[in-house]
Amino acid sequence: MSHESPRLRSALDAVPAYVPGKPAVAPAGVTAYKLSSNENPYPPLDVVRAVLDKGLDTINRYPDMASTDLIAAIAAFVGVDPSNIAVGTGSVGILGQIIQSTCDAGDEVVFAWRSFEAYPIVAALAGAVSVRVPVDADQRHQLGLMAAAVTERTRVVILCSPNNPTGTVLHRAELEEFLAAVPRDVLVVLDEAYLEFVRDPEAPDAVEVWRANPNVMVLRTFSKAYGLAGLRVGYAVAHDAVAAALRKCAVPFGVNSLAQAAAIESLGAYDELMVRCAAIVAERDRVVAGLAAQGWQMSETQANFVWFPLGERCTAFAQACQDAGLMVRQYGDDGVRVTIGEVEANTRFLEVARGFAPA
Ligand SMILES: *Cc1c(COP(=O)(O)O)cnc(C)c1O
Repeated sequence: MSHESPRLRSALDAVPAYVPGKPAVAPAGVTAYKLSSNENPYPPLDVVRAVLDKGLDTINRYPDMASTDLIAAIAAFVGVDPSNIAVGTGSVGILGQIIQSTCDAGDEVVFAWRSFEAYPIVAALAGAVSVRVPVDADQRHQLGLMAAAVTERTRVVILCSPNNPTGTVLHRAELEEFLAAVPRDVLVVLDEAYLEFVRDPEAPDAVEVWRANPNVMVLRTFSKAYGLAGLRVGYAVAHDAVAAALRKCAVPFGVNSLAQAAAIESLGAYDELMVRCAAIVAERDRVVAGLAAQGWQMSETQANFVWFPLGERCTAFAQACQDAGLMVRQYGDDGVRVTIGEVEANTRFLEVARGFAPA
């Protein structure tokens, strides 16, 4: 049979489109706020601006392909050997490298649902099959069901803690029980994109869990707490063989020179950035308390967002937010995710939420 156009991989037919958070649109006379992508509301630190400015002088040159200085800085920060760090174009970039490193067509990737919508995309791109295990009524991972979902074809389980979009964290004891039940040849990824907002003392120390388990790796990002979403840089903590595989699957020169410099500078400014995170957590606590006072019964968020599983009221809720100049993230009839943003945005959001509060 002759074809009128280039043949594309049939696996692409199974790739869902990524729906980015809507940009902020303002009704007349109202400041609009983007609460749809879990971004950091703070502007870049002056030291980061300075290093970016300096970095502009050399953008005619390729970046250090091995990201040597950044990897050394991350390794020192995390307290591991540089051989155990891999960097990528955001943790989404690394997720793609993970699936490329582990999955042939038809292999399975297990994750909770809802969880991060990049997971089914990176799986489908590799021709792998997504196995979605529903979260429970408290919006938490059902680790027992997830362990039971592991088959001969499973190559990766992705655990997201705090879970995007539901905000809940895994606890140390349940994670240990899960790891004991999962075969050692299945890679377990702990996605900690929102680590810096966690205050639950029962949350595991993922690096400690990684150290104790040869099939575990940790995924982190500079996009959220560090406020560098636009620069695209994240990292993995992985045992040697996995880390080496991730490096093989990296886009050559993918992490650009400005991103490398800004990430190094941001690790140096960690304390200052954590003061900002603490302020975001304080705002989260204020929003959560405000919602409780309105009568909402929320699942516990440990991230920089709150989750409203409102069923068929999702569209009206998201629309009311938008009418108030607040862009939020709607997931069909599953729920609406609202990022903790600027103080004024959070206050305005509480006013909108009041109109939907349970009687
Ligand atoms: C935002 C987010 C990331 C980070 O993505 P980057 O590519 O690093 O910007 C990773 N995992 C989850 C669950 C997220 O919500």
